[in-house]
Amino acid sequence: MLDAVLLGVLVAAIAIGFGLGYRQALRRDDKASPTSSPTLSRNYFVGLNYLLNEQPDEAINTFIHALDVNSDTVDTHIALGKLFRTRGEADKAVNIHQNLLARPALTAQQNEQVQLELARDFMALGVHDRAQRLLRQVDEHSQHDDHRLTATRLLVDLFEREKDWQSALDVMQPLLAQQPGMQRPAAHWQCELAEQDIVQASRPLAKRRLKKALQLDPLCVRANLLLAELALDNGRYPEAIARLGQIAEQEKAYIPAMLPALRHAYWRADDEASFERHLLTLLETAPYTSVIISLGELTHQRDGVDTAIALTGERLSVSPSLGGLDYLIDLYIESQRLRGLESPDTRLFLLKHHTRALLENRPRYRCQRCGLSGDTLSWQCPRCRHWGSVKPITGVEGE
Ligand SMILES: [Zn+2]
Repeated sequence: MLDAVLLGVLVAAIAIGFGLGYRQALRRDDKASPTSSPTLSRNYFVGLNYLLNEQPDEAINTFIHALDVNSDTVDTHIALGKLFRTRGEADKAVNIHQNLLARPALTAQQNEQVQLELARDFMALGVHDRAQRLLRQVDEHSQHDDHRLTATRLLVDLFEREKDWQSALDVMQPLLAQQPGMQRPAAHWQCELAEQDIVQASRPLAKRRLKKALQLDPLCVRANLLLAELALDNGRYPEAIARLGQIAEQEKAYIPAMLPALRHAYWRADDEASFERHLLTLLETAPYTSVIISLGELTHQRDGVDTAIALTGERLSVSPSLGGLDYLIDLYIESQRLRGLESPDTRLFLLKHHTRALLENRPRYRCQRCGLSGDTLSWQCPRCRHWGSVKPITGVEGE
């Protein structure tokens, strides 16, 4: 089907083509170019015929062959190439851009512009080595800051897709000071490399990388989570607790993600009283369901189920949530069992059935940029590819 953008580009192509035809016709009158105009006109009428018969691909091919390559029409060719690529036909875009590069009429700036487009085509086709060669050439030799920056960003995108984190860091390093927006991704690349070091048992190297990540982005929650894991594995519980405590100051939305590690650290340190104080401090600024449930569990084990019901019920009346209600129903069922009731109130089981059903299909994490939700905490959003935008869902429906 013929979309509006395609139609717009074709109309532009026709306008340029007729302009050229007119100029060439004038030249023909001057005996300078006696043969080209009839060919051009014939191609345009053939293209127009395809267009009227709703055969856009054939129409575009005809117009491309009819359009001469010169400084006036390069932008039209590039626009057509982009159009093919966005329509998922990157192979046709490659033909257009390679055809352009073969022409000596291009200026150095236009040549680089076409190289960048061709690199995008190859990336869309998954031919990364050819894309990389073109981008390296522009990145290393271009006299234009804009072209160099575009090449660097495309190279970073390419290395991220290949999970080549060191190359992404190397290519971005000289520009990090001028590009503060890239410091967060760079911190995550350091974290990715640190995770590889941990797998390969190079813990000191991993630790150095994670500290570099925090220098690049002091709000990098992931670096503190990994540093806490390293400290926990080495039995340094106070350090692990301090690292996890920093996460609440960096970005409190990640508290639900760090709570299991915090509980584990205090349990290994055998310091339940400090854990309770820590949870109460968190509750002041982040009354999340997971914090309320952790506190409820602590009270349940220490003071019994009825005290846990009273405290949890009180906190949920201020910060209601579906997950909290589900936990509270568990406590009520437990309380009835402890009282020696052989079969606890069936209405509780009915309520429990409904809260479970509602919770089962709830995603746990959501990207704050594009809204993609899922059950795993991805540090880079799989859809919008933004770093650090996927966060735990909190509030009434969260956790
Ligand atoms: Zn996203």
